[in-house]
Amino acid sequence: MRHTEALVDLAALRANLAALRSLLAAEAAGTARPAPAVIGVVKANAYGHGAVPVARALEDAGVAMLACADIDEAVALREGGVRASILVFGALGISDLDAVFAHDLTPTVSSPWAARALVAAAERRGVVLDCHVKVDTGMNRLGFRHDNLRRTLPPVLEARALRVTGLYTHFATADEPEHPAFEVQQARFAEARRVLASLGLGPVLCHAANSAACLRDGRTWFDAVRPGLLLYGVVPPPLATTLPLTPVLSLRSRVVAVKGIRPGEGIGYGLTAAADAPRAVAVVPAGYADGLDWRLGNRGVALVRGRRVPIVGRVSMDSLTVDVTGLDVSPGDEVVFIGRQGDEVIDVREVAACIGSIPWELLCRLGARIERTIVRDTSSAGRDA
Ligand SMILES: *Cc1c(COP(=O)(O)O)cnc(C)c1O
Repeated sequence: MRHTEALVDLAALRANLAALRSLLAAEAAGTARPAPAVIGVVKANAYGHGAVPVARALEDAGVAMLACADIDEAVALREGGVRASILVFGALGISDLDAVFAHDLTPTVSSPWAARALVAAAERRGVVLDCHVKVDTGMNRLGFRHDNLRRTLPPVLEARALRVTGLYTHFATADEPEHPAFEVQQARFAEARRVLASLGLGPVLCHAANSAACLRDGRTWFDAVRPGLLLYGVVPPPLATTLPLTPVLSLRSRVVAVKGIRPGEGIGYGLTAAADAPRAVAVVPAGYADGLDWRLGNRGVALVRGRRVPIVGRVSMDSLTVDVTGLDVSPGDEVVFIGRQGDEVIDVREVAACIGSIPWELLCRLGARIERTIVRDTSSAGRDA
């Protein structure tokens, strides 16, 4: 087994979902409406956490749907035993369409072309296909333009082979508290719902809120919310929350060698980080191939022996070095890149900020060769890999 592993705490995942649900329920309590359902976003290998175990845990916890980026991701979930409804966000290629039917997936219809392709495929099979319609309210990615719906949507709504069961949009600026586009997109989505009702669409599952919108504005919740990052226990920067969220993933490795460096000597590629005093460095078998970003070289930190220590020298493909001068470190000692050790914590937001990136990117780029160890119950050793 390799030294570098990601621990994935499914009890934390369930607790984060429960925390979100209590927020949703608290707001609904004062109204006649039921609390919004949760669509658990598990695209990109469940943000690097491992798609199948995460999806199955969310399914067991009763989420209304799961959502992923493309058909291949959805098929992998089905092959892993997931039976919940799966919404596919992405655009559909022609070759994908068989799997939509074979695996009972819910595609997104986001263009007239996609609608025609799905209608033709459903008609050939003599079936009626459930789908969600995506409206582009200003992000200018996928979706029917909000200002064109009376022209573009009647053929979709009239097609006998399609049954529209959901309607959604996606916010471009939910995590930017000052940005006016958030309100504009909400108003456009409200108008889109009115237009669709006037075109004869009955009640369908309306959803819009990503994690940031879940935290920021109950008016965006509609019938279901669509969080990703939040379920993994990470708050979208720069937002803050009082919800009790716990990071699901921690990333750790072990020291494989410790050595002394003499004054004037550099470390690793480029021989950067030359020092003017003797130092001790620990070599850790985790590099940018494992998702430890190259930009962490001479910038990032790790936890060793309960202390924060700097990453010194460049990050290599398969290893990096940390400065452990003055600490009593030996091969085999644990190194934490994301997570807790003793009283110290490094969270993924901190790592992302350190290199000018975002937590979403860091999580989903965790390398394929990192072992994901599933922890189902933090209170015991009950694990399986
Ligand atoms: C990724 C994604 C989400 C979840 O976003 P988070 O910021 O991780 O909560 C929701 N909806 C769509 C369409 C997405 O692509």
